Amino acid sequence: MEPTIDRILISENALRDRVAALAEEIAATYRDADGGIAIVTVLAGSIVFLADLIRRLPMRMRVGLAMVSSYAGPTRVSEGAVLRSWSLPDVAGLDVLIVDDIVDTGGTLRVVQRAVAGLDPRSVRTAVLLRKVAKAPADVSVDFVGFDIEDVFVVGYGLDYDGVYRNLPYVAVLADGGPGPRPVS
Ligand code: 5GP
Ligand code: MG
Repeated sequence: MEPTIDRILISENALRDRVAALAEEIAATYRDADGGIAIVTVLAGSIVFLADLIRRLPMRMRVGLAMVSSYAGPTRVSEGAVLRSWSLPDVAGLDVLIVDDIVDTGGTLRVVQRAVAGLDPRSVRTAVLLRKVAKAPADVSVDFVGFDIEDVFVVGYGLDYDGVYRNLPYVAVLADGGPGPRPVS
């Protein structure tokens, strides 16, 4: 049976305010990026965050897409993350900002950061909306974080459970903390 929403963790208002503040931080960081920046966004969880964030960023930018899949479970096991495909502008010599929904173990961002670093960019930074209590190892650095959250499974504002709930305008916790790790079969 599909789990239900237990509680709202981050309200629509809180998301709006924090994304606006994050955009100011990011804009200040790239103040001198004359040629513009390249955003590399990790599908599909980041789509809502991306849409809200980039409309608040004033600089010239191009947006590229990356798809990462994990080897097991429909939702949450991301160790062994693999870069499946991407569609990117030429990022050589450009400042790149990777945008993702949430960093948990860091496996997803690690593969994207490594792949982008191999394309000869001028710099690589990462922005995430959510970070789970510092579980990601030191080699996965995140420069801009919307919210630090407890280690619960969240949905909404782009994040899914088995493909649904992405359209919720807030971030919510699933009943029972969401699905547990699934055995690899
Ligand atoms: P990581 O690779 O850092 O362990 O996990 C990152 C990816 O796993 C995220 O981009 C997201 O797709 C998924 N993920 C991790 N935690 C959650 C969560 O609480 N809710 C949802 N919906 N996805 C999560
Ligand atoms: Mg993701």
